[in-house]
Amino acid sequence: MMLQATDLYRFFHTGDAETLALRGVSLTLLPGEIVAVMGPSGSGKSTLLNCLTGLDEPDGGMVRVGGMSVSRQPEAARAAIRAREFGILMQSGNLFAHLSLTDNIQLQMQLGGVADAPRPAALLDRVGLAHRGHARVTQLSGGETARAGLAVALACDPPILIADEPTAEVDAATEHRLIAMFEARRASGKATLIATHSEALAHRADRILRLKDGAICHD
Ligand code: ADP
Repeated sequence: MMLQATDLYRFFHTGDAETLALRGVSLTLLPGEIVAVMGPSGSGKSTLLNCLTGLDEPDGGMVRVGGMSVSRQPEAARAAIRAREFGILMQSGNLFAHLSLTDNIQLQMQLGGVADAPRPAALLDRVGLAHRGHARVTQLSGGETARAGLAVALACDPPILIADEPTAEVDAATEHRLIAMFEARRASGKATLIATHSEALAHRADRILRLKDGAICHD
């Protein structure tokens, strides 16, 4: 399964001001690749990730997964592609605050209908939250919440993981644990695209895409 974005544009209008969040971004993500997206705050990383998963619609350009278009499809079709192909961790949104971590993961597994997914406890261990399965989302720190979201994103062992800052606020040991998990995905042919400020994580990626003002720098 290959993810391909061609010439993505995204504009936002706030009053009279126009922000060009993406200005002609193209990229390819192959099975077994880890790609890091880096760039300063406001460079368009989150907007890019939202367009790649079909959570947002680009104003120009096209996203394809395995030859099928994600862009300019009815929401039901996009949701079906997302459920089948993607695990998604964005800055907010994939956790039910009043449920425990274990229940969040189990719910995701049920929604995804996967038979041979890893057990919640194993997933929590991989993201360094083995001791937090019974905690509710509201009881977690910012970094723990990001990793809880990562565990949910991985609950169905998705072919493509799209993650925004999965290693925010973690210590070095936990970061290495997360990197090992991304490398295990690589070994089993799964693709991983991560927006990150972490040099340690970027260093282990197969490629780094550097965004600046909504465009990929090629220097
Ligand atoms: P990053 O993830 O690299 O910090 P973003 O993709 O969040 O960057 O933002 C890129 C630019 O688009 C920023 O200037 C941001 O203010 C703007 N932007 C992002 N989302 C919106 C929105 N929903 N409405 C208006 N402007 C937005």
